[in-house]
Amino acid sequence: MPELPEVETVRLQLEREILGSTIAVVEIHEAKNFVGDQALIIGEKIGKVGRVGKYLFVHFESDKGLVIHLKMTGRLVLQDDFYDTAKHTRVIITLADGRKVYYWDIRKFGYVRVENNLQLSISNLQKKMGREPWDITDKDLLGKLKKTTRPIKEAILDQTMLAGVGNIYGNDGLWLAGIDPRRTANSLRLTEVAKLRMSLCEVLNRGLALGGASDNTYRDFYGERGSYQDEFLSYGRTGEPCNRCATKLKRIVVGGRGSWICQMCQK
Ligand SMILES: [Zn+2]
Repeated sequence: MPELPEVETVRLQLEREILGSTIAVVEIHEAKNFVGDQALIIGEKIGKVGRVGKYLFVHFESDKGLVIHLKMTGRLVLQDDFYDTAKHTRVIITLADGRKVYYWDIRKFGYVRVENNLQLSISNLQKKMGREPWDITDKDLLGKLKKTTRPIKEAILDQTMLAGVGNIYGNDGLWLAGIDPRRTANSLRLTEVAKLRMSLCEVLNRGLALGGASDNTYRDFYGERGSYQDEFLSYGRTGEPCNRCATKLKRIVVGGRGSWICQMCQK
């Protein structure tokens, strides 16, 4: 699933390409992936592209806008003949200059949703969501973690606790911080929470610098792969040596999700 670095990569590219563009035509090939009335956005001019956690927001110059979530296998891709006829292309948005933006999704869990008052929807969403790792203090994060006995890995993947972190960066952040993903969230001391928050910021920044991870279906707005998968610290590296101590990494399951740990350096 695209996480903060992947979604932010797409946001930056959308900002570069479609600001000031006007929506001309919306074709919906799969009703599940488009929520709302497409007629409402025809003729709307794009004023801003925002993001909170894994959500993308396309603000029009009116109060209207789009909320986009890529979920498991979604892609947002600009003008590319392949997507014109691709099996998994779900929505095609044609801009007034003739360029096309494709929403492509194998599993069909993601969506493009029309909002009449985008700012209000964002505020409502933010009330339910946690902050991103760089926007929360160690003490505030500690306070939140103290309230739950769930494993720390499960807690940091919960978007109401912390926004933007998913399985890849959650795994790598815990490895970098030297914290066992099975520890109960409320057992972490302030120094450990600080280390974890800093480690999460570090892996998210590295992911962003590398254009995200494309070990799976993720592609950016130009249809290109990111390269963070070449630098996974622990994620998916079953049996490979730990970068710190060379112990073989082991796959375990925490909160129903695959997790990779070094039994020597994660306590
Ligand atoms: Zn190790």
